[in-house]
Amino acid sequence: MRGGTVAVVGGSVAGCALASAAARAGADEVVVLERTQGRLADRGLGLCIHDGRAAELAATGALPAGIAAHPLTRRRWIVRDDAAAGPAGRVFWEQPFPFHSYHWGLLWRGLREAMPASVVYRQGAAVTGVADTGAGAEVRTAGGRAEPYDLVIGADGYRSVVREAVCPGSRPVYAGYVCWRGNLDARRLEGLGNEGVPSDAVSTVCFPGGSCVIYPIPGPDGPRVNWVLYATPPNSGRLPFADPTSFPPGRVTEELTEHLGTLLDREFPPHWARVLALTEPADTYVQPIYDLEAARTTARRLLLAGDAATVVRPHNTSGVAKALQDASAFEEAWRGAGTWSELLDAYRAARGPAGREMVALARRLGRGQVEQTPDWATMNHREVESWWQQLLDGAADIGGQAMRP
Ligand SMILES: Cc1cc2nc3c(=O)[nH]c(=O)nc-3n(C[C@H](O)[C@H](O)[C@H](O)COP(=O)(O)OP(=O)(O)OC[C@H]3O[C@@H](n4cnc5c(N)ncnc54)[C@H](O)[C@@H]3O)c2cc1C
Repeated sequence: MRGGTVAVVGGSVAGCALASAAARAGADEVVVLERTQGRLADRGLGLCIHDGRAAELAATGALPAGIAAHPLTRRRWIVRDDAAAGPAGRVFWEQPFPFHSYHWGLLWRGLREAMPASVVYRQGAAVTGVADTGAGAEVRTAGGRAEPYDLVIGADGYRSVVREAVCPGSRPVYAGYVCWRGNLDARRLEGLGNEGVPSDAVSTVCFPGGSCVIYPIPGPDGPRVNWVLYATPPNSGRLPFADPTSFPPGRVTEELTEHLGTLLDREFPPHWARVLALTEPADTYVQPIYDLEAARTTARRLLLAGDAATVVRPHNTSGVAKALQDASAFEEAWRGAGTWSELLDAYRAARGPAGREMVALARRLGRGQVEQTPDWATMNHREVESWWQQLLDGAADIGGQAMRP
């Protein structure tokens, strides 16, 4: 199939990748509608992609070459152990971790620059709703304008307006805990002593009721350190998290900031508490954790991709890989289709089961690492291995599924 007009709502990771896929597959016109006015590249957080997924995505063209990535090989699991260990705590387990870490802004810029020149990227274009028109779909923007397209792709994240049209009422469900996230210039570690932050490892600090991953990432001005700490916030039941939300820098409440300090003092080996405390308030975020599997990923001429279709708890380290896989599957479905409905059917068949399995795995990982943590400090290697295998429950690994197992 060739030709046609496509609107992509949302111009983040999934949006850029899907727009490129549509243009490469042969759409006449591809328009990305992104509500943000400012510089998206400044959203500077870390993320990881599994090496196996990255190789597949590079081969399909969904992950462009040349994006800065930092190699990681192992994951260390650490507990505070005041009696037996030094300030950096005790490493009670180590496992292979074949991933590369990325800086969100640099990844986004790489995807944006790799877009075919024919793609129109409109910033400050907030979409208020989409509707099926029988022969296509219509996008309504904040100014009240209605724009007709042959296909509308919802790449508008966890609070998707396109999802509301595809499967009304399907919303993210609060998992009962949050993550504090931050990143800092690696030069700030100078003089800290101990081991700093190992450059080839994810270090996971474990404590009753939570855990925190800390790892190096590339950055626009040199190496940075990224961390994500998961725990239940105080008064969790009373917090207004039923409506999907997040707390960007400057909007993190005093109570949440204080609780982070309490966790660092009470649960962290002193070295790791000092590393996190080097983070500027302007680089600290709080994000409630949600689960979502949209009941459907397509409806008539509407299609969902990335977090609009599936919100996977970050423990699975798979969100970006999954969004880029959605783009690869979409391009393949387009190339094999003779009609719009064949394209939508093929995409749905390819991506539906993968999303459901990832959500289920990430729920198990969240239970084991936050909601029902084991007594890590007393476990031997065999017990930790067996705990991890129970969480995987037959899955090959975290990081998302291979497209061609
Ligand atoms: C703490 C945390 C850690 C993570 N770590 C990893 C990791 O290590 N590895 C990994 O692969 N993934 C990770 N992820 C997940 C990953 O960030 C996402 O899954 C991935 O970025 C896909 O995002 P997306 O493009 O679908 O949505 P988003 O990035 O949410 O983008 C949606 C876009 O749509 C725009 N938009 C929204 N509504 C509208 C509208 N109405 N009109 C116009 N535009 C709109 C928004 O401004 C935004 O730009 C993590 C997530 C979290 C929360």
